[in-house]
Amino acid sequence: MRAATPKPVLVVHGGAWAIPDDYAAAHESGVRKAMEAGFAVLSRGGASIDAVEAAVTVMEDDPTFDAGRGSFLTSDGRVQLDALLMDGGRMKAGGVACVERLRNPIQAARLVLEKSPHVYFVGAGAEEFAHANGMPLIENSELVLDRERERLKQAKQREAAGLADDTFSGLEDDKSPETAVARAAETAEFQSHDTVGAVALDIHGNLAAGTSTGGTLNKTPGRVGDSSLIGCGCYADNLSAAVSLTGWGEPIMKLVLGKWAVDRVAAGTAPDLATREAMSYLFSRLGGRGGIILLGPDGRFGLAHNTPAMAWGVATEKSMETGLSL
Ligand code: ASP
Repeated sequence: MRAATPKPVLVVHGGAWAIPDDYAAAHESGVRKAMEAGFAVLSRGGASIDAVEAAVTVMEDDPTFDAGRGSFLTSDGRVQLDALLMDGGRMKAGGVACVERLRNPIQAARLVLEKSPHVYFVGAGAEEFAHANGMPLIENSELVLDRERERLKQAKQREAAGLADDTFSGLEDDKSPETAVARAAETAEFQSHDTVGAVALDIHGNLAAGTSTGGTLNKTPGRVGDSSLIGCGCYADNLSAAVSLTGWGEPIMKLVLGKWAVDRVAAGTAPDLATREAMSYLFSRLGGRGGIILLGPDGRFGLAHNTPAMAWGVATEKSMETGLSL
């Protein structure tokens, strides 16, 4: 008896944080456009890696998100981008970090995946590799928006005044390490985290995942977060699952949380439960906040966040749904 052809599935996210009401429509429509682009690839029998690249490219081009043009600025006012793409069928991965002159870092990641014996390039070397393989180099200023210059200015004013970004706990007088962790977590919950990502399953049964980010606001130049690190903010393996995360990168990295979650699926946990467990673990172990999308090789998927909202979308042959919380 022949095995049934897998049904295509695409899940995307556009960041997890307290998305304000006046940003909601832009987030939902950005996620929807990404899904339409990605699912069009899957519907015509295309590969999951192409669907993920297409979906992430749309969100990198959309200034709503912290990816590509419109990303957060470094402390010295530049855009520095990180992205990873992983093909769970071929077990190939390509990543770039700290690139400043590429409009679509996910496409550079694809070039690394396809055309290099290496897996990960950073900075000028990544830009040169992408350029040598056909990508145009742009001025960094083309990626910088006035909105972000203003946002950076405000972050620096808060920093100079000795204020953490907005605190909500009412624990300001308590200086214990435990309280510091709790405060940091609450702060992170309300800071913008608009990293983008996608996971896909194609009719050939192959999984892929991609994540792209401008990182965190006011980051020190050269800082790399979880998003583009294999097994942290992104991972895909047909033998386990495909995953993309967003949120406060440092705790996610320390827990290698993407790999942690897909390994649970490989061990028999349903993706839906694995995502919820991952968010609980992130918070209970390190006070971390974020969001996760996860897709198994049988098409079952999970989405979870421990922030007030997450921009998400799920496309199958039956429906295309988007939302801002679960
Ligand atoms: N995880 C990203 C980073 O730490 C930020 C985000 O998800 O918004 O670079």
